[in-house]
Amino acid sequence: MIRHECGLFGIYEHKDAARLAYFGLYAQQHRGQESAGIVSMDTDGMHEHKGMGLVPDVFSEAHLQKLAGKTAIGHVRYSTTGRSSFSNAQPFVAHYKGMDIALAHNGNLVNCTELREMLENRGAIFSTGNDTEVIMHLLVRALREKELPEAVREVCSQIRGAYCLLFMVGNTLIAVRDPHGFHPLALGRLDGCPVFASETCAFDLLEAEYERSIEAGEMVIVDANGERSEKLREPLPQKPSQCIFELVYFARPDSYVFNEQVYVCRKQMGWQLAHESTPDVDFILPFPDSGVYAAVGFAQCAELPYEHANIRNHYVGRTFIQPTQSMRNFGVRVKINPVRAMIEGKKICIVDDSIVRGTTMMTRVKKLRELGAKEVHIRISCPPVKFPCRYGIDFSSRGELIAARHDVDAIARQLDVDSLHYLSIEGLLRSVMHSDSYCLACFNGDYPVPCAEQQGKCCLGKG
Ligand code: SF4
Repeated sequence: MIRHECGLFGIYEHKDAARLAYFGLYAQQHRGQESAGIVSMDTDGMHEHKGMGLVPDVFSEAHLQKLAGKTAIGHVRYSTTGRSSFSNAQPFVAHYKGMDIALAHNGNLVNCTELREMLENRGAIFSTGNDTEVIMHLLVRALREKELPEAVREVCSQIRGAYCLLFMVGNTLIAVRDPHGFHPLALGRLDGCPVFASETCAFDLLEAEYERSIEAGEMVIVDANGERSEKLREPLPQKPSQCIFELVYFARPDSYVFNEQVYVCRKQMGWQLAHESTPDVDFILPFPDSGVYAAVGFAQCAELPYEHANIRNHYVGRTFIQPTQSMRNFGVRVKINPVRAMIEGKKICIVDDSIVRGTTMMTRVKKLRELGAKEVHIRISCPPVKFPCRYGIDFSSRGELIAARHDVDAIARQLDVDSLHYLSIEGLLRSVMHSDSYCLACFNGDYPVPCAEQQGKCCLGKG
């Protein structure tokens, strides 16, 4: 199971700002289940509420009532093992020379360690291990000499890696997407007010209108003078390196991210996969939820029956919050159960979106074998994940990645399947509209932004 990233939401000058932020985060809960927070702004200053857990558990009606003001930003943070603490919950709030500053971040800085060292050498103290706090320190330093938008631009010229940022400073809201545009950030409109969200499913819930994706290297500033778009400092990369895993796995299928409809891309991936390799089977079996959309495309292209013969228990926690290997496998079994009568004596093709460590798939195949499946084939709607992600997705070490250690035949033997095929990189790129604007580093090792971690130095905390 791959760990998700974070989700952002912001709204400017709307009378129901905090309540809308709540629902904006609620719609993006899939992007982070560890903690949630909202900071609002009125003439008395900032009001914040953050907590560990899911959005509806963190906020009550009373909390929302206290989040006064017409401008708000919110954040959901993903689950991790060992790094889960209230101090890492966002948005971060700081006070500098009578100024209230709130910051929410989605991404991962690759030069966080060196920036932190530089700041500590100059007397900065930190209360978390999170790279978002580094950004806050840099902003405060820049504000000593510059006005807010230029200070944000200065900060962005110092940080490297993946970042979508929402700054709320006084009555100004600034949304930034890094020059490579690794993660999504969209601009919408509700009752004439600007809204920002990582994914457009948040806009749909609020009945806000989706206007556009914020561009890579773009900064949108909303203040008393209105709304304007500016570029971050040159040089900007020639083309974006958007995380293609957003389309493969992370984003909700009803969202538009990077100006692509996720559902359509996922279905196309299944279609391309069937073109590349269709086994002789009785039916296609998806594993809910994320594998379903590629499986639909696969079954339609291959003209094979599609059976929803895996029943999901929707009331079980996510498998990756389990700390040990054995518990993770237990989580898989508890979460999805195949329908025995559909499996016995059948030739089955599982279509799923990814294999990262291989442990989840191994448990699933074992279960199908126990139920009497005659043949089990696997088709995966993305290429083998061979390299860790440096930009905020938790494929943390190469050693954990099954495809980094084994070729496809060896993985098939390890999983005990009759055949295994991964979608090619070409097939993956044929499934999206803007094929030259994606990061493929976890498949081909071609990192758009070099990372100190390759020499053993990188920040642990992710926004
Ligand atoms: S390395 Fe993979 S997961 Fe990370 S940003 Fe690039 S495409 Fe996304």
